[in-house]
Amino acid sequence: MSNLIYPTTNFKATETLTMERGDGAYVYDNEGNQYLEALAGLWCTSLGYNNRELIDAAAEQMGQLSFSHMFGGKTHQVGMDLADKLTAMLPVENAKVFFGNSGSDANDSQIKMLRYYNNAIGKPEKFKIIARERSYHGVTLAAACLTGLHANHTYFDLPFDALGILRTDAPHYYRGALPGESEEQFVDRIVNNLEQLILKEGANTIAAFIAEPITGASGVIVPPKGYYQKVQAVLNKYDILFWADEVITGFGRTGNDFGCTTVGIEKPDMMSMAKQLSSAYMPISAAAIRGDMYEAMIEPSAAVGAFGHGFTYSGHPVASAVALKTLEIYERDNIFGHAATIGEYMQKRMAEFRDHPLVGEVRGAGMVGAVEMVANKKTGEAFNNGAAGAFAVQACQNHGMITRAVAGNSLAFCPPLIVNEAQIDEMIEKLGKALDETLDF
Ligand code: PLP
Repeated sequence: MSNLIYPTTNFKATETLTMERGDGAYVYDNEGNQYLEALAGLWCTSLGYNNRELIDAAAEQMGQLSFSHMFGGKTHQVGMDLADKLTAMLPVENAKVFFGNSGSDANDSQIKMLRYYNNAIGKPEKFKIIARERSYHGVTLAAACLTGLHANHTYFDLPFDALGILRTDAPHYYRGALPGESEEQFVDRIVNNLEQLILKEGANTIAAFIAEPITGASGVIVPPKGYYQKVQAVLNKYDILFWADEVITGFGRTGNDFGCTTVGIEKPDMMSMAKQLSSAYMPISAAAIRGDMYEAMIEPSAAVGAFGHGFTYSGHPVASAVALKTLEIYERDNIFGHAATIGEYMQKRMAEFRDHPLVGEVRGAGMVGAVEMVANKKTGEAFNNGAAGAFAVQACQNHGMITRAVAGNSLAFCPPLIVNEAQIDEMIEKLGKALDETLDF
């Protein structure tokens, strides 16, 4: 142990594992043990470890210009090139993009840009944001308020309704449906709840609805068909923006370029990205907004003297160079196409666990999935604590595979996009052993 305060950790129960190096889809600890990285780090190392092109891109940029800020109109070519390449990929209309360092700060930046925009168009009262139960949007103060997981609020004095954030249902049929309710009835009920919330609060006070197209950290929730189409119809009716948090689902993860494409969200107004934007070789995030929203912010920025929001490392040149190279590799090597093919195989193999006595549900899309372990397979009754998840994660680790338990007892899978079928088979074999061992824990 060192003097570290570990992030997102049970300080009392911490068993440390010291990682030393990585190569392709594998990481190695300081005793030389090999592990398949079945969660791509934290849903982020899309191109795997020890990618020479990304290492060279970072080193070359460090040698050329290791830092230059972007305040007051200063810029650098690699940052501008990244902005242009990224925005050309996005479904956001005439997108403009603001760079930061993490998914959390991208979401904080979005909240501030939303407020700035609504003030600029003379609608300061339109500042509330609808977020969902069981969502994860990060841990900085504002992003933690968006997050719908209680552990991110408790002891931090972050009430669920801080900062004008409103809460609506998660589209989690397995956990949220009423007895006998069909998927369609479930969707209609929760979309109706959303509309009632809007009417109760007043549509003129609500700026945006934020959603991860498919959630990750809160259990890999894939909404029933038709959910987003119905949500979008309600939002359009009341002039509320759709804000897609693509921090996990962006860049090929769900079997398409973006999660929005996979679940049929057309033209989101705002998009937050991080993680696979740079394959996690450097920290960088992107908050994209519609071009006309940016245009509206120009006048007020002149009136104040500056748009008063920016990080020292916004558009960091080394992070920009790595992200640009990452996007080039995605395109050149058809990584999203490969991920779509392997993703189908992964979902097919994961579905085999539906019959396992410990498994209540298998969920996923493309190359992200989860296996939810339950106390009672027949009734779907959940375990009353996360001990089974912790045990199974350790069992996976003992078999040479890294994963995490999310939302209590769902084992999450999100391997690097570059894995092959044999590595998916390896993942499935190790998971099978770990689940069998967890049966007797
Ligand atoms: N948004 C989503 C959907 C996430 O999954 C995460 C992290 O997992 C975040 C935001 C926060 O990103 P970061 O941990 O880089 O701050």
